[in-house]
Amino acid sequence: MAADEAWDVIVVGAGNAALCAALSAAEQGAKVLVLEKASVEERGGNSLFTAGGFRFCHDGVEDLRQDILDDMTEGEYDSIGNLPSLPREKFLEDLMRVTEDQADEDLANILIGQSRDAMRWMRKHKVRFIPMFGRQSFKIDGKHHFYGGVNIEAVGGGFGLVDMLLDAAARMGITVRYEAALRELIEDRTGRVTGVRVKGPGGYEEISGKAVILACGGFQANPEMRVRYFGAGWELCRVRGTRHNTGDGINAALAIGAQPFGGWSTCHAVQWDISAPPFGDRVILDNFQKHSYPIGIVVNMNGERFIDEGADYRNHTYAKYGREVMKQPQRAAVQIFDAKTIDMVRDEYRIREVTKAQADTIEELAQKLDIDVEGLRKTISEFNAACQPGEYNPSILDGVGTNGITPPKSNWALPIDKPPYTGFVVTCGITFTFGGLKINTDAQVLDLVDKPIPGLYAAGELVGGLFYQNYPGGTGLLNGTVFGRLAGKNAGQSVAA
Ligand SMILES: Cc1cc2nc3c(=O)[nH]c(=O)nc-3n(C[C@H](O)[C@H](O)[C@H](O)COP(=O)(O)OP(=O)(O)OC[C@H]3O[C@@H](n4cnc5c(N)ncnc54)[C@H](O)[C@@H]3O)c2cc1C
Repeated sequence: MAADEAWDVIVVGAGNAALCAALSAAEQGAKVLVLEKASVEERGGNSLFTAGGFRFCHDGVEDLRQDILDDMTEGEYDSIGNLPSLPREKFLEDLMRVTEDQADEDLANILIGQSRDAMRWMRKHKVRFIPMFGRQSFKIDGKHHFYGGVNIEAVGGGFGLVDMLLDAAARMGITVRYEAALRELIEDRTGRVTGVRVKGPGGYEEISGKAVILACGGFQANPEMRVRYFGAGWELCRVRGTRHNTGDGINAALAIGAQPFGGWSTCHAVQWDISAPPFGDRVILDNFQKHSYPIGIVVNMNGERFIDEGADYRNHTYAKYGREVMKQPQRAAVQIFDAKTIDMVRDEYRIREVTKAQADTIEELAQKLDIDVEGLRKTISEFNAACQPGEYNPSILDGVGTNGITPPKSNWALPIDKPPYTGFVVTCGITFTFGGLKINTDAQVLDLVDKPIPGLYAAGELVGGLFYQNYPGGTGLLNGTVFGRLAGKNAGQSVAA
C-alpha cells in the first residue's frame, strides 16, 4: 500500500473495540483501514484472552432467544433453571456501587442504554453467543442457575469473538494491517487530526485519514507507566493479556493536548496463578485466574486473611482483589478449600498448570506451601468459630456469614474443617488500566478545556471515566462494543458529510 493512500477512517488497534469501530464506520460507507501493532499470530489484543463474556440489559432467557441466543439448541434451553434478567436500573446500580459512585454518568448511560442494541448489532454481524454454562452458573437439581449479571459469552470465547469480528470486517471490505504500530498522531495547522505516523518492519511511514479512532488499549503492559501511576512493586505483577497494550494511543493523544480522565491510580487486577508467565498465554488464556475464592478463604504467607471473600458475587469483587494481593508479603496469597467445597471450584482450578498442594491437616498444608504454620492454624480456628449457621447457597447472596472477626466473610462462610485441605497459590495479574482519555457522548476525544479534537475519536480500554477502584465483570467487552460502534458511526458520518 502506498504511504500516501488516503483513507476515510483509520482505526488504531484490532481488538474488540477497534473492530466494532471499523465495522460501524464501514456501515456509513467509509473506506476503513485498521492498523494493528501485533503480528497476525499475536492478533486480538486483550479481547482474545477473554472468556468472551458480555454484561448487557435483557429480560431473561425467553427474551434472549429472540435475537441473541437464536441458535441455542432445545437441549441447552431445557438445561436452564434460571437465567435472571438484567434491568437497566440494576446494571447502573451495580456499576455505581462497585465504582464507589465515580463512574461518569453520561458514559454509563450510553453504555447501559445501548447495551442490548449493541449485542443485537453484533449478532447481525454474525457474532454467535451462548449462555456461560461452565463459569457463571451453579447446577441445582440438574439445572443451571445463572448469577452475577454476566451470563452470555461469544461462541469460542475471546478467540471466537475476535475471529468472528475479523470475518465480519473482511465481509465489509475493511483492510487490516498487522505490525503497524501507532507512534504519533498527525495534525494540520488548524489542529485537526489528519493521519498517523506508524512504525512497522520497514520503518516509519505516515498514513493519511480523514478521521482517526484510537482503540489500542490501556497501559497495563508498560511497567514504567504502572510504577509511575500505581507505585513501587507494580513492575512485578503479571500481565494477564496482550503484551502490546503499552499506552501508545493514550500517550500519542496526550502529546497533542488530549485530556487525561478516569481512574489513573487504579486498575483491574485479579488473583492469578503465581507460576503464570509475565504476559498472557494464548493456550491457557484466562485459566490462570482463580475465581472461586468466594466459597473458600484467602490468606497471605503469614496465614492471615485480608479480604472479605464473600463480600459480593465474584463478578463484583474479583477485579479489585488482585490489588489486595499485591499489598501482601511476597505479593502472594493462598486460596484454601476443604472437601466440602473443592468439587465446586471453577474449571480453571483443574488445569495442569496450577500451583497447589493438598494435605490432611492444616499444619501440613501450611508446611507444603510455606505459609506460617501457627498463623494459619490460628486464622482457621478463629474463622471456623466465627461461622454462623444458615442455608448455604452459592448461587445467591446467602447471608451465611461470620461474626466477630476482621475481615468478615459476609456470604458463603462454611468452616474449613473437612480434610483434605487444598491450597492454590496466587499473585496479582493485571487485566487493564482504568485511566485514559476523555471522550464526549459522541466518542470524540476532548482537549484540556473539554473541546473535541477535530478528527479524533476513541473507544475501549484507553478511554477513562467508566471504571474506578473496581469494575463489574463483563463490562470491558461491552464498553468496547458500545463505544467502538458509536465512534465508528460518528467518524464514518463525519467523513461522509
Ligand atoms: C484474561 C482476560 C480475561 C478477560 N475476560 C473478560 C470477559 O470475559 N469479559 C469482558 O468484558 N472483559 C474481559 N476482559 C477485559 C477485556 O479484555 C478488555 O476490557 C477488552 O478486551 C478491551 O478491548 P479493547 O479493544 O479496548 O482492547 P484490546 O482488545 O486489547 O485491543 C487493543 C489492540 O490495540 C493494539 N495496539 C496496542 N498498541 C498499538 C499501537 N501503538 N498501534 C496499533 N495497535 C496497537 C493491541 O495489539 C491490541 O490488539 C478480560 C481481559 C483479560 C486480559
